[in-house]
Amino acid sequence: MTPDKHFRDGLVAGEIRLQRCSSCHAHIFFPRVLCPACHGTDLDWVNASGQGEVYTFTTVRQRPEKGDDYNVSMIELAEGVRMMTRVDGDPCDVAIGMRVFAYVGEIDGKPAVLCRKTEE
Ligand SMILES: [Zn+2]
Repeated sequence: MTPDKHFRDGLVAGEIRLQRCSSCHAHIFFPRVLCPACHGTDLDWVNASGQGEVYTFTTVRQRPEKGDDYNVSMIELAEGVRMMTRVDGDPCDVAIGMRVFAYVGEIDGKPAVLCRKTEE
């Protein structure tokens, strides 16, 4: 099974799966076969804690008949990896450094990583 498939199967199961290098213990995302830090090939899978913060974001504006504006955010998880996601709620409330919790939801009927703001 390819690393990418294992990640996508994780989403279907409601899990955000990250790789972790057995040699240097770096967490890895996107899924791959070589550790980008040390080029080790002994990679384990762990489930992300979900804890993270907004690294950067943009707001996608839509015509009202197509739906509400939404944001596309790059979040940095506590494990040190970054991923593209969407923060629930009003895009105006999103800010860099905001604490979020990542979970598996749906975008257009497909499992995807979403985030919600965590209370300070
Ligand atoms: Zn490594």
